[in-house]
Amino acid sequence: VNQLASIRSMRALAQEWRARNLTVALVPTMGALHEGHFSLMRKAGAMADRVVVSIFVNGLQFGPKEDFARYPRNLAQDLAACRKRGVAAVFTPTERSMYAPDHSTYVVEENMSRSLCGPSRPGHFRGVATIVLKLFHIVEPHIAVFGQKDVQQAAVVRRMIRDLNCPVRLVVAPTVREADGLALSSRNAGLSVRERALAPRLWRALQMASSLGRARPCASGAVEKKMRAVIEGDDGAVAVEYIGIVDRRTLQPCSVVRRGVLVAVAAKLGQVRLIDNVVV
Ligand code: AMP
Repeated sequence: VNQLASIRSMRALAQEWRARNLTVALVPTMGALHEGHFSLMRKAGAMADRVVVSIFVNGLQFGPKEDFARYPRNLAQDLAACRKRGVAAVFTPTERSMYAPDHSTYVVEENMSRSLCGPSRPGHFRGVATIVLKLFHIVEPHIAVFGQKDVQQAAVVRRMIRDLNCPVRLVVAPTVREADGLALSSRNAGLSVRERALAPRLWRALQMASSLGRARPCASGAVEKKMRAVIEGDDGAVAVEYIGIVDRRTLQPCSVVRRGVLVAVAAKLGQVRLIDNVVV
């Protein structure tokens, strides 16, 4: 597969494609690729002539106490997986090339970033918006494909695209799950056997909320309480960080769970932080 580590060579290739009137779709990732990422690549390939996958563990979006150092990295495997799936180029920039030591310009989205993961991950969406805009400038994609699993990330990017006039069409692909409902994530590899067995509680709680809200509008407080009981159980092995019942477009709290409402959760299993969501 065509692996490009320099910004200059990535830009040159993308511009060559554009000059030939080929459409380009970008799939930004942090690597440790799994079926969730592959589904994004398939979607990208169905919508554009050339697919670019970027692999970059973006330090800027990790907090000082988060898992940047522990984040799984396996580039050789990722490159082979991309080759197999017809990806035209894999962009693997270095930390040094992306961030000058005196880097001082950031993209700060001030609305969508504030709810859900915002309070527990200060600076996270600033890191996301900054790296995504940089990737847009380097690859100049017509389309960018993101996953519903990171629904708030997609909302922040959608708002940034609108507010900063990025000539990019955002496409969001559905969450890919294990057979037991656990959303695929590179972080799942960090779960112990016991934690892995408990992790599907997130999806079970979301499904419960979804079926309650589908049957009839339910008070959010009551639904949240039931979800918390499902996720935390009585063993204390899973700690809820938040349960968000919000408008799917504004990400602002909803007092009632009903059709179209977004229910999102974050929880910690030992060192591993997991997120998931469902639209009722
Ligand atoms: P990451 O490498 O975790 O930063 O994710 C890169 C992209 O893949 C993001 O747009 C994620 O939303 C998406 N993604 C991650 N996990 C899944 C999944 N289980 N299903 C669908 N998309 C996913």
